[in-house]
Amino acid sequence: MTALHTRPIPRHAPALAHEHAWTAESRHRTSDGTVVYVRCTGCAARRVDLQQDSQLPPAGISRSIPRP
Ligand SMILES: [Zn+2]
Repeated sequence: MTALHTRPIPRHAPALAHEHAWTAESRHRTSDGTVVYVRCTGCAARRVDLQQDSQLPPAGISRSIPRP
């Protein structure tokens, strides 16, 4: 007798399958630099960036936070 095995279908959240299009929502100057709160216009994920020098591109200080 052959047992049938059903495999779970791998699911990937569609929100993670695209390249985020970050837009700055607000900026706050701190002693470490400018903290920029950004939001993805595509999936509403949020991230916090720290811009230490205006000559350099901002670096994310938090990972992307997908909207639940
Ligand atoms: Zn996104």
